[in-house]
Amino acid sequence: MQSGKQNWFWREIVHIDLTRGFRYVIILLIIDAALLVVDGVRLAQGVIPAHRGYYYAFLAHAVLLGILVVVLVIYYLTRPSSADAVTRGHAVLLFGFATILLVFCTVSTMIDQAIHGQITVYVIGTMTIAVAMYLPPRVSVPLFTLNHAGFLVAMTFLQPDRATLMSHYVNGTIVMVLAVVITKLMFDSQRRVFQGMSVIQNQQHELERLAIEDSLTGLYNRRYADSRLAEELERSRRYNRPFSIAMADIDHFKRVNDTYSHQVGDEVLRQLAGLLRAAIRTVDVVTRYGGEEFVIIFPETTEGTAHAVCEKMRSSVERHNWHVIADGLAVTISIGVSGSNADDDVAGVMRAADDRLYQAKHAGRNRVAIGS
Ligand code: GH3
Ligand code: MG
Ligand code: MG
Repeated sequence: MQSGKQNWFWREIVHIDLTRGFRYVIILLIIDAALLVVDGVRLAQGVIPAHRGYYYAFLAHAVLLGILVVVLVIYYLTRPSSADAVTRGHAVLLFGFATILLVFCTVSTMIDQAIHGQITVYVIGTMTIAVAMYLPPRVSVPLFTLNHAGFLVAMTFLQPDRATLMSHYVNGTIVMVLAVVITKLMFDSQRRVFQGMSVIQNQQHELERLAIEDSLTGLYNRRYADSRLAEELERSRRYNRPFSIAMADIDHFKRVNDTYSHQVGDEVLRQLAGLLRAAIRTVDVVTRYGGEEFVIIFPETTEGTAHAVCEKMRSSVERHNWHVIADGLAVTISIGVSGSNADDDVAGVMRAADDRLYQAKHAGRNRVAIGS
């Protein structure tokens, strides 16, 4: 359960990151392609001096453009339809994408040292990845620190001016530390959001269960029976399929309460629920419709087959060893069965089953009555 929830959280996180990453790549692609065209034209016109740094910068952006297109195609071909479809491969793809972008920004910054000596690209790249993606600390810390180590080493060789170098060391390190902190804060707050959502979801499932369950027997309650009956009747009418219901009632149950106790009566109801459940087929539904009355729904079933299942129920109740609950206790049930007709509504089918239950009671109880 715990690991299931954990997986759910990861899949949601990766799914959000992938969707965001996709939009992010498209924006980058547009910006980068525009920059490349403008710089290409200016380079050709000789507006930009034929400096080696510009040449490398131009090349780097062309490479990035290619990488972005590849990432986009891979994303498009493997994108998950929902968070449920997210796999480990998607997480690896995402991590690879973040790494490529970050390293690219660092390499661009190195090239920039030969042109204007600034670290703007490093700052933008690091911060964008920090705020655009939910990265767990165990991913973000090594990612940002290792990349930063590369930044520091390369900077030492590429920035000849000592004062500028010191300033880059300090500012670059501040940016890296901020990125790690921001990533952790964002990740933690997102985790809390998901924990809250998971609590609400559990409560919702619990409420849904309580709304349709009888607390004494664990069977479905009348609310469920009514909605299921309407559903099954509608289905049987639309597809012209057979459908039956049965109404079961404990014989002389009042005597059980009076002779023994209400507690004994409750235990009888609990054990009876188990017997009814054991006797039905998997498609059938047993519900506690009222105090000691049970409605059994038989989808796709003719009256004859429903009768056979009910007879099995009746006899298993009769044969059950009720002495275990109280000395001398014996319990039987009477059942009325009714198959639906094309023009029946829920009330009509119920009335027919109820009439037959009455017949079963009148004929001496402990029996199953069907249509004459
Ligand atoms: P019949 O064979 O005609 O059905 O006789 P009966 O005594 O079973 O019929 P009646 O409807 O008069 O009595 C039903 C009894 O079921 C009355 C009520 O006290 C009891 N009962 C209903 N709900 C519960 C319950 O949750 N627990 C217990 N212990 N008794 C219940
Ligand atoms: Mg009754
Ligand atoms: Mg009764």
